[in-house]
This record gives sequence, C-alpha cells and structure tokens, in this order.
Amino acid sequence: VLDGVRKALSRFLSGKGDYERAVKEFIRDLQKELIKADVNVRLVLELTKKIRERALEEEPPPGITRREWFINIVYEELSKFFGGDRKPDIKPKKKPWVMLLVGLQGSGKTTTAAKLAYYYKLEGYRVGLVTADTYRPAAYDQLKQLGEQIGVPVYGEPNNKDAVEIARRGVEYFVSRGFDIVIVDTAGRHHREEDLLKEMREIAENIKPDEVVLVIDAAIGQQAHNLAKKFHTATPIGSIIVTKLDGTAKGGGALSAVAVTGATIKFIGTGEKIDELEVFRPPRFVARILGIGDLEGLVEKVRRIKVEFTEKDVEEFLSGRLNMRLVYKQLVSLRKMGPLRKILQMIPGLSLKIPLEIEAGKAEEKIKKWLAIINSMTYEELDKPEIIDRRRTRRIAYGAGVKTEDVRELLKQYEMMKKLSKQLRKRKDLLKKLQLGF
Ligand code: GDP
Ligand code: MG
Repeated sequence: VLDGVRKALSRFLSGKGDYERAVKEFIRDLQKELIKADVNVRLVLELTKKIRERALEEEPPPGITRREWFINIVYEELSKFFGGDRKPDIKPKKKPWVMLLVGLQGSGKTTTAAKLAYYYKLEGYRVGLVTADTYRPAAYDQLKQLGEQIGVPVYGEPNNKDAVEIARRGVEYFVSRGFDIVIVDTAGRHHREEDLLKEMREIAENIKPDEVVLVIDAAIGQQAHNLAKKFHTATPIGSIIVTKLDGTAKGGGALSAVAVTGATIKFIGTGEKIDELEVFRPPRFVARILGIGDLEGLVEKVRRIKVEFTEKDVEEFLSGRLNMRLVYKQLVSLRKMGPLRKILQMIPGLSLKIPLEIEAGKAEEKIKKWLAIINSMTYEELDKPEIIDRRRTRRIAYGAGVKTEDVRELLKQYEMMKKLSKQLRKRKDLLKKLQLGF
C-alpha cells in the first residue's frame, strides 16, 4: 500500500537545491500516489493543501532542518488523514463479550473471525466461535478447520438452515460455559448494502451483540465510504475491520474513505495467515508508509516490539510474571524478526545467554512445532506452565502430534525466559532511561 510515497520521500530527502521546489515536487508525487490508491480527489487536495501551507509557514524548531521538519508535517497530516492518533479500544468492556461479524460475501469475515479469536486468545481470553453461515455449504468446515488450527472451539449446526437460531444457540452455548468472548460469523451473501444492514439488524435483534463488526475488503477502495457511513449511523456499537490490505493498490482509498466517516477502524487484515491481523493505529501505519519504521535506532525498534507485545505484556514480563501466552507471542514475533532479542542485545550490561536461540535454518520448523504444542495446552497450563507434569506432557505431545522431548524443550525455554524476566526486573530503571515507555 502506497509504496510510491516512501520513494517520493526519499527523493525529497536526498534532493538538493531549492526547498520550496522540493516541497512542490513531493506534493505532486503524493497526490499522484494517493489518487492511484483510489483516494477521493477532493480529500487528496485538502490534505496536500494543508501540508503545503504548513511546510511554507512553519519554522522548524532549533536543531532540526527544514527538510526534517517537513517529514514531520507529512507524518502528522497523513496520520490525521487516516483517522488520527486515537487508539482503538479493543479490550472487551465486559464479560462475556459478544461480537457479530457482518460484511459482503468474500470480504474476509470467516478468516477474520478466526484471526480475531486467535488475537484475543493470545491476550488471555477464552474465546468461542459460532458459525451462522447457512448459505455457503462448506462454511461450517471452513471455520471448524480454522478453529482447530488455533485451538478455539467452534459451534455450528451444519444441518440447520436457520442462521438466527444457530447464532442464538451458539452464543448461549459459550456464555453458559463461562467463555469471555464469543465471535459470531455470518453469511453476508448480499451485494447491496441495504440488504446487508437489514440482515445485520435481524441477527443483532436476536443475539444482542456487544459489538457489531463490519468487515470490508480493501479492494473496494473509495466505495468503502458509503458502506462505512451507513453502518456507522446504523449501529452505535460498530467497529470496522479492513481486510486484504496486502493484496490491493486501493488500500489507501478504502482506509481514508472509512476514516472520513468518523467510524473507527479497529483492525486491518494484512494477509491470509491467521496472525496477519493488526490493530490499526494510523500513526504507525503512516510511519510504515513513509519508511520511518526502517530507520535505525532503539526507539524505533521499541515501537516495533510493541506491535507484538502490549504494555500489559511487557509489564508482566518485567515483573517476572511470565506465562505461556507471552512465550507464544515471542515465538510468533520471532518468526518475523525477533524483536525481543534485538532489544535485549541493545541493553548494555545485560550479559546473559538469550533464550530461544534457534539454529539457523531450523527456526521455522521449530517454531511451528512449538506453536502446535502451545495450542494443545489448556488455559490453566498456558497461565501456569509449572503445573505441567509428565502425564500432562504426554497428553500435550499427543495433541500436538510431536514427541514428548519437544514439549520438554519448550518448557525449558520457558524456564530460561522466566529467569531472564527476573533479571530484567532489576534493570527496570535502565529500561526507563531508554524510554521504553514502561
Ligand atoms: P467471507 O465470505 O466474508 O467469509 O470471506 P472469507 O473469510 O472466506 O475470505 C475470502 C478470501 O479472502 C479467502 O480466500 C481468504 O483467504 C481471503 N482473505 C481474507 N482476509 C485476507 C487478507 O487480509 N489478506 C488476503 N490476502 N486475503 C484475505
Ligand atoms: Mg464466510
């Protein structure tokens, strides 16, 4: 999404000569890129007008060059453009929390339902999935399979055609069993937004969800505006997830079109895989567009670590309260770039062997295994791996389809991480100095 903007920015930075001309050129490039990404032309003009005005009027603070200051302006204005810097409220405000997913056929509802379940499971919630799609023949199997992959139970009635009834019973099923979050997937076989909103109201009246989530495919670009606007006014408890941002050049159009309606985009889907769901934070998103995320420096790297670890996680980690969920997250992030490890290496005076050292080339295979192991653990075991005895080890290994040695190895890694977290606790003052923000 918006790759050209980064290039334009680096041209601006490396260019010499007249500042005003460089600004003009950058703005022209930015306009071109945004329009290519299907952003509404009027919005583009408003945005670039503001950037130009600020760039020519504002004086940079001492120690900062005009060009650097200009990047800051672009960063701020683009962040506002994509929804500002309010953090989406993703924490359920009560338990149980019932989420109803609606959206056009093919928008990515079922995939997103599973991604959400996985996301919240990692946050420590007990999550159940309900499939109320009676339209697509394989809908039940699709969600069931995804559920198995992430160790989340799925409620469905493959032979029942009454979606409302299934939804109601599914919610009841999980609520009566003390689950924290219930996610209901629907059919959304409509191609018109009126029909979609009507179906949403019908099911909603029956199951009284705490949150209705509209799933929008980024490929519809500017058209996302109408859908989001109607939805935003139709349901006060609505939030939006924009999917497939990885697969379309129109992502910028979809995101800005939703942002301008005032609706909150909570998550974005950035791939087909189960962990390719991100909390949508416009400033972070813009930082990536501008390539700021590539800059060296500890603070930047810390920003990246926070993609994976919430503040609560870091707090837990630093206070020695480690559990398997944190190990799990570390594993998932390790797969990407190993942020925790990089951070640890940057902390002076912290001379200990960093756990989760994996032989080069073997990482992917090993991580897969470990994730399978963690998926076969019960909630109790995730929170307190200490209780895993030999009998439990065998059961987990069996469930994950691995050897008991593999389980023991992971438990050993856990012990090492725990020691590390205890040592880090003593260095909390130092971490504070490094502006890690906790
Ligand atoms: P539904 O009809 O709304 O339930 O849509 P599905 O969940 O079945 O998704 C339709 C297709 O979109 C599937 O092939 C998914 O793998 C794919 N998909 C969903 N989300 C994403 C995403 O964020 N990125 C990409 N590239 N594909 C996605
Ligand atoms: Mg579906």
